[in-house]
Amino acid sequence: MPALSRREALAATALAGIVATLPAWAQDAGGAQWDLKDLYPRDAAWDDARKKALADVPSLAKYKGKLGDNADTLAAFMVAQSDLGRTIGRVYTYASLNADADLRVSANQEKQAQAIDLYTAYGEAVSWASPELLAIGKAKIDGFIASNATLKKRFDFSLADTLRRADHTLSPESENLLAGVGSSFSGPSDIREQLVASDIPWPTVTLSTGKQVRLDDQAYTLNRDAPNRADRKLVFDTFWAEYGKFQNSLGAAYLSHVKADVFEKKARKYPTSLAAALSSNNVPEAVYRTLVAETNAGLPQLHRYFELRRKMLGLPDMAYYDIYPPLVALDKRVTVAEMRGVTMDAVKPLGPEYAEIFAKATAGKWMDPLPRPGKKSGAYMNPGASYDVHPYLLLNLGENYSGLTTYAHEWGHAMHTMLANKYQVYEKSDYPIFTAEIASTCNEELLAAYMVAKAKTKQEKIFYLGQQLEAIRGTFYRQAMFAEFELAAHDKAEAGEGLSGEKFSAIYLDLLKRYHGPKVAVPDTYASEWAYIPHFYNSFYVYQYATCISAASYFARSILKGGAKERDNYLSVLKAGGSDYPYDILKRAGLDMASPAPYRAVVAQFKDTLDQVEALIG
Ligand SMILES: [Zn+2]
Repeated sequence: MPALSRREALAATALAGIVATLPAWAQDAGGAQWDLKDLYPRDAAWDDARKKALADVPSLAKYKGKLGDNADTLAAFMVAQSDLGRTIGRVYTYASLNADADLRVSANQEKQAQAIDLYTAYGEAVSWASPELLAIGKAKIDGFIASNATLKKRFDFSLADTLRRADHTLSPESENLLAGVGSSFSGPSDIREQLVASDIPWPTVTLSTGKQVRLDDQAYTLNRDAPNRADRKLVFDTFWAEYGKFQNSLGAAYLSHVKADVFEKKARKYPTSLAAALSSNNVPEAVYRTLVAETNAGLPQLHRYFELRRKMLGLPDMAYYDIYPPLVALDKRVTVAEMRGVTMDAVKPLGPEYAEIFAKATAGKWMDPLPRPGKKSGAYMNPGASYDVHPYLLLNLGENYSGLTTYAHEWGHAMHTMLANKYQVYEKSDYPIFTAEIASTCNEELLAAYMVAKAKTKQEKIFYLGQQLEAIRGTFYRQAMFAEFELAAHDKAEAGEGLSGEKFSAIYLDLLKRYHGPKVAVPDTYASEWAYIPHFYNSFYVYQYATCISAASYFARSILKGGAKERDNYLSVLKAGGSDYPYDILKRAGLDMASPAPYRAVVAQFKDTLDQVEALIG
């Protein structure tokens, strides 16, 4: 299923509140601008395809127990399940895009539910295959791959990846037992969600404008950058104190989640919970630990940024509630047509092949760019049917700089998909998040550099530089801080230390103070912020935002310095798609994510940007 990345899902949540106040230009009732006829000419054709796929699902069962017979049988099964999955991807894409174009049309929601049912049926119909492959064993399957051209060309990597898990796969009986308890593992996250959504009596505050705000999660994100400092303080003091009142329950929920991770790592014989989580994409633990160490080494630059912020905001001192207000404002309209032109110019350093595909892709009807009543919020690139058709992009662009960066970001994903599809067989085209956010973030970095270079006024230049500083603070430093929190919680649980909400708050407060430096006031009440982060229930995931912006900085900086070799290396990462493990793909492209190089690149980028702003404001 084409899952949204965390970041896109987050953006969707953050944007959920603005639908009611659409600007006039966005209310044009012209309907979605993408052309879904490229997928199916009409709904009836989609339904025929869906029914045929559903009827084909049971045919996969005939291979059960026979995968070890010979190479041809294994190849026949692999081709049959891959081809069916490919068709189902197309069926699902059509239904989900239609559903997202207008959430109020229940017929389209029902079609999407039918497509999900089809996916579920398919997933169940092939669930026996991995255990069977593991039982056959590596030696025999390697022999099959060597003797069969189809297996070698299309399936060698996915088969090797399945076999890699052999040491951490249990007996069928134990696997069954684990699968059975698996659903209760989501309990802690469900409990947290219920507390936050229903049970916590979010307090109402009155801002200096006279506006009354009921401070739940959404209202907090909308008001935390209030221009009036006393309002910001009121918002922070009230909101975190409320989370603090539920510290015991929220702590028990998170501790249960951490304990489930520890149970699973023990059951599957991994040395640590971190190793267990990172094994899904075969990422070495050193990547995570180097990220944390290097971020700490780069904290003096972050502290410098907060001091610059204090100066630019004209504050006598800095507090944690001063980190969100924008440094300078820029009221400059950018139309979607202009976004295309600017992005096209900004990504020119990536060379002619990239430029050509980008120009062609953005000229097609692949994208639905503007907000519209009923349309799903947020932004995503859907790669689900891209191999046979093309990617689709759902965006809700504001006609401003933030819209422009979203445009460059999502088209970065689409270009990654286009290049991977061009150079890889279908089965090796899909890439994991560990590399995905590099392609999108690198475009953002090239865009920022271009805007700074082209800025006509000092004010404009400072605006773009300030946006870049915020991007690095939020995506590199803050996500690394979250990563460090998760690591500390799991390390302590594995060492048998007693944990509780109070202890999590103490760990978090220590991190907040260390990351924000001695000159940013962080009252003890704010220690409860950890309880507000839902991503902690998806363990060891957010670190990838920090590693991706680091890799993107590394490549963007070297490409902008004219490094032809680095440009080819960067493009080789995109073209490699999912043909190998992401860590190995990057290493072959000259970037070892377990080394300090990428993290030092993003810190250097941050420092250069600070230097530029300081020089401009004098
Ligand atoms: Zn993204």
